[in-house]
Amino acid sequence: MSDELPDELSDEKIDKIRSKLVEKGAQANCPMCNNSSFQIQHLLTKLSVQSKLSEGSFRNVSLPAAVTICENCGFITLHSLTMLGLAEEFE
Ligand SMILES: [Zn+2]
Repeated sequence: MSDELPDELSDEKIDKIRSKLVEKGAQANCPMCNNSSFQIQHLLTKLSVQSKLSEGSFRNVSLPAAVTICENCGFITLHSLTMLGLAEEFE
């Protein structure tokens, strides 16, 4: 595992995420405060999940995700890069 900090996403990649969210219709207002503006963060996150292979044996899987934050209340939402079709390109 690398100790290096991850690179920030380029503006081009942020635009690709934004375009995909628009394409998928993911443009609802914030579910907490009904604000309509979100920021897409310049860093991805990875959710660490485990699946059970057999008794006492697990496999670690990481799910890369884009992070959006409501500009009013700070509510955070995650969008799977895999489901957006961007995982291979971004990793
Ligand atoms: Zn909000």
